[in-house]
Amino acid sequence: MKYDIIIIGAGTAGAMTACRATQQGLSVALIDRKLKQNIGNKTCGDALAKYHMDFVKSKVGFDHPKGEELKQKITGLALYPPNKKSKIILHDQEGYVVDRLLFGQRLLNLAIDSGTELFSDYIFKDLIIKEKKIIGVKIKSKKTKESEEIFANVIIDASGANSIIRKKIPYFLQKCTENEISNVDMGYAYRKIINLDNSNQIEDIDLIQIYFDHKLARGGYAWVFPRGQKSINLGIGGMKIMTSDLHEKYNQFFVNFPELNNNTVIHEGGGVIPMRRPMNSFVTDNFAFVGDAAFQVNPLHGGGIGANLEAGIFLADTVIKANENNDFSEQSLWQYNIKYNNKIGCTHAALDIFRLYAYIMPNKVLNAVINRKIITENDVMSAGLTGALEMTAPEKLKKALKGMDIFKYMLKIRTMAKKMGRIKELYQNYPKESKEMPDWIEKINNIYHGLKEPYENIKNIK
Ligand SMILES: Cc1cc2nc3c(=O)[nH]c(=O)nc-3n(C[C@H](O)[C@H](O)[C@H](O)COP(=O)(O)OP(=O)(O)OC[C@H]3O[C@@H](n4cnc5c(N)ncnc54)[C@H](O)[C@@H]3O)c2cc1C
Repeated sequence: MKYDIIIIGAGTAGAMTACRATQQGLSVALIDRKLKQNIGNKTCGDALAKYHMDFVKSKVGFDHPKGEELKQKITGLALYPPNKKSKIILHDQEGYVVDRLLFGQRLLNLAIDSGTELFSDYIFKDLIIKEKKIIGVKIKSKKTKESEEIFANVIIDASGANSIIRKKIPYFLQKCTENEISNVDMGYAYRKIINLDNSNQIEDIDLIQIYFDHKLARGGYAWVFPRGQKSINLGIGGMKIMTSDLHEKYNQFFVNFPELNNNTVIHEGGGVIPMRRPMNSFVTDNFAFVGDAAFQVNPLHGGGIGANLEAGIFLADTVIKANENNDFSEQSLWQYNIKYNNKIGCTHAALDIFRLYAYIMPNKVLNAVINRKIITENDVMSAGLTGALEMTAPEKLKKALKGMDIFKYMLKIRTMAKKMGRIKELYQNYPKESKEMPDWIEKINNIYHGLKEPYENIKNIK
């Protein structure tokens, strides 16, 4: 059987790519190892910014969550330092906490109604390569144990953070893509969804609450995401190499929230998140990555749903154009790199630099920076939305960090802001052709030079 596109993985990224492509008349086979009724379910914080949904609705008609699917409307974020003595509140940050399964099922059904052929309960086994070209995939039915071969002009890896497909791309097609993710860039998070026995236990119900604590959530944070008055999503996450006993850390952190503890746990679990800048290139001949498989996640907070949805649209639009030109080469699919990185990748790249500096600051510095308002609401807003950090007055910084090896941190924060600006510019001026990539990658590598070393030697972190 031959299709225009085969997509492995029917999560948010794969289902959205399928939806857009079939709406525009392409034939799509969507493969997932889960049973149809379980597709979309995922251990997640379930939070999503509204502006992503505005874009998605305008392009494919996938509407904002409502009814049973909408667990909580969000109006902003509260960020807490380790000693919780103050908070930064970011207002006017509209978003949603959703029921992940219902959200995923609605998207999947839209893709199916638009013409996508779903192979649920099928597992990806291998790529089919002929004359140095990827032409199809081998899949196996979990029910019948039978293998099948299906073919397409473009194969898409939307199989998530642990993608096995990227390792299957032969070396001669690994042009500018990456087939590995470093330990420093892999996040791990553990969360519980809890039914609250008494309602009205949640303060600030319309705020996403983020708690920094680099003793317990090393290279990450703990979160409290309300899901209405009756349930809540509580979690903790950080860099995988620094978070061995996350379950225990969860218990230690949430012992301080007794009002949320004596309640019924509906679901608990953990999962990995690629917390890094986007992959150098998402495409090679006849092949593309999307979603977590492409590292399209906000590296600062690990949110990927919104970026994945938008990326799926950019990718489908690029394949539609490639189909018109009957050219599925790397260069023909390259536009997807440019579109994504111009809009989202540039901010994520800057926030990756922010992450590598911020997540190594000791708790006492985080306390000083937040409690003494060294970084203000506006600084965080502009860094989060645009990846640009305009630091507040340096004198304030000097005073706040008094007696704390001050120059070391001042210099670090200034260098960080500069590097954020530089990498953002590089991603905004992403190469027009793959032949410009070696030069671009060298510039990126220069920005990262030495930044990951302290994490690799984790004993240095106090
Ligand atoms: C604990 C945790 C909390 C998070 N919190 C948030 C949050 O609050 N907000 C947010 O925006 N993001 C959050 N994220 C990240 C978000 O969940 C991901 O970015 C997003 O789900 C990725 O979507 P995806 O479609 O790329 O991959 P996935 O959702 O992982 O989908 C991949 C699909 O591929 C299928 N698949 C995999 N391998 C195969 C195979 N070999 N054969 C066939 N099918 C296969 C899987 O069954 C799955 O359906 C969180 C992640 C974790 C782990």
